[in-house]
Amino acid sequence: MIRKILHILFLPCSEATLLMEKRNANTISSREKRKLNMHLMICKWCRMYKQKLEVLDKILASTFAERETEINDSEIQNFKNKMFNKLNF
Ligand SMILES: [Zn+2]
Repeated sequence: MIRKILHILFLPCSEATLLMEKRNANTISSREKRKLNMHLMICKWCRMYKQKLEVLDKILASTFAERETEINDSEIQNFKNKMFNKLNF
């Protein structure tokens, strides 16, 4: 129950996932980083999402490095959308 309140008070999951994306793109502020870390401490779902995101990034990075083709942004976006749908965000 307390965790639920903290969740709503600090940062909703939808915003936490957004901040994770920002962190990956290195556009996150230190204040946002603190908020995100706080959220990750109390939210196991976002911790799981973060792990998946890290694995995903590694796979994507190695896939595109091997293929040496142009990175197709819409392809990546489609992939991410599918992930979001699966995770019900
Ligand atoms: Zn969360």
